[in-house]
Amino acid sequence: SAPSYVLSLRRNSPWSDSVTALIDSATGRHLSYADFIRRSETLAANLTSLFKLSKNDTALVLSPNLLHVPILHFALLSLGVVVSPANPLATRSDLTRIIRLSKPTIAFATSSAAKNLPNEFRHGTVLIDSPEFDSLMTASRPGAKLEQVEVSQSDVAAILYSSGTTGKVKGVMLTHRNLIAMAGVYNVVRAQREKPAVFLYTVPFFHVFGFTLSLRAVVLLETVVLMERFGLRRMMEAIERFRVTHMAAVPSVMVAMMKDDLTAAYDLRSLECVACGGAPLGKDTAAAFKTKFPKVLILQGYGLTESTAGVARTTNPEEASRSRTTGKLVSGVEAKIVNPDTGEPMFPGDQGELWLRGPSIMKGYVGDPEATLASLVNGWLRTGDLCYFDEEGFLYVVDRLKELIKYKGYQVAPAELEQVLHSHPEISDAAVIPYPDEEAGQVPMAFVVRKPQSSLGEAEIIEFVAKQVAPYKKIRRVTFVDSIPKNAVGKILRKDLNKIALERHISRL
Ligand code: ATP
Repeated sequence: SAPSYVLSLRRNSPWSDSVTALIDSATGRHLSYADFIRRSETLAANLTSLFKLSKNDTALVLSPNLLHVPILHFALLSLGVVVSPANPLATRSDLTRIIRLSKPTIAFATSSAAKNLPNEFRHGTVLIDSPEFDSLMTASRPGAKLEQVEVSQSDVAAILYSSGTTGKVKGVMLTHRNLIAMAGVYNVVRAQREKPAVFLYTVPFFHVFGFTLSLRAVVLLETVVLMERFGLRRMMEAIERFRVTHMAAVPSVMVAMMKDDLTAAYDLRSLECVACGGAPLGKDTAAAFKTKFPKVLILQGYGLTESTAGVARTTNPEEASRSRTTGKLVSGVEAKIVNPDTGEPMFPGDQGELWLRGPSIMKGYVGDPEATLASLVNGWLRTGDLCYFDEEGFLYVVDRLKELIKYKGYQVAPAELEQVLHSHPEISDAAVIPYPDEEAGQVPMAFVVRKPQSSLGEAEIIEFVAKQVAPYKKIRRVTFVDSIPKNAVGKILRKDLNKIALERHISRL
């Protein structure tokens, strides 16, 4: 039968006329849930009649967060077509790799994103910011009718691309079962509210965080405010104008909000909750955010593209007040902590690699059996994250194993040092990576963005951090930069920093 999250949208339709599904924050254009359903059904019928799309097709979607995108996603999912959203700013070589992996037969792209696409799609490229696309959503073509498509839970529903912050891009195959499991998790944590939550997405739909949030919104009938392009000011304007109650953000957005002096110029009182995930949120950042926005509940979630986003989360103020944890596992997910070198289980409370099993774990990497074999071991997903559980079952994420700095015999987590740097009032952003060192193997090197007018020097920064961490974790080098390179979700592009570090290292030799 049709995927149950699509059915849940239809089931909710009688009373969804009054609920706004989507708002474009730049133009103020909005759509009710009834419009949303009508458009996605009309679009699905038109796409079938025009392109003869069938269950085995994969559709590449290249777009920023426009109103059309969730409509398109639902139309494709209801046809059993595999939705494959990718970064609209992907370069031609990224796109070549993506296309080689997932073999899409049709592409939906904005006119600017389409410029980088080859012409090889069997069903062509459809421009989603064109007037023709508008009419595909609003006017039924003669003879177009909505087909009932049979899908099974193990069919692939979506292919999402890991952003390759550390390595090469991989296409993560998520099944309908994975998406249903995730929608179920969201349903459990549904807040009891009189009015629908107004949820601002600062994360793009092509990332698993944004993609699954769009399912959440449909399941819970929430109002979603979209930003085509992220910007701190634009975000605060949107919160004020649309009385945003909930926001999804990665820690770097929270750091920016906390450091920005202009937040006081906006009325942000409607904001009740920030759902934060995707990277470690430092305890100082959380505390400083709480001081600045005392009424806002910060909930944390941990997950990967490979686990269909959140597999652990804090769900209430008591859990949120616990420092540094990303919460307990969601129901249905099993976890173990193992020695990353041997795969042997660790003692309770010890740090090791987190392995996960359950209904939200991916099917594998498309077109990359080797990577799949390396990541999925007897149904367990190797997360590559160094983690531990406390005795109450709360999960703590220390850092990514491959990002740890190996200083002499010790392992140093960049995340801890980044958090200390963020707590400095004159530092607006920072990142830490390993720097090659003859004696120690690697030493921590900090990239620091100073606030305007700050004259903070290398020695002061090294001393500031040294006072707060164990001696072996001391930062040994500081490089000042204008900005920290980040991907579309706000995650640090460590590859780029490594490149800068390597260039400087070579030039010093
Ligand atoms: P790539 O894997 O190619 O670098 P990516 O970083 O975009 O791409 P994602 O699936 O978005 O891949 O990221 C998942 C990783 O993000 C997790 O393995 C973990 O390291 C980190 N992460 C996610 N949520 C949290 C969190 N709450 N705390 C700490 N780390 C987190």
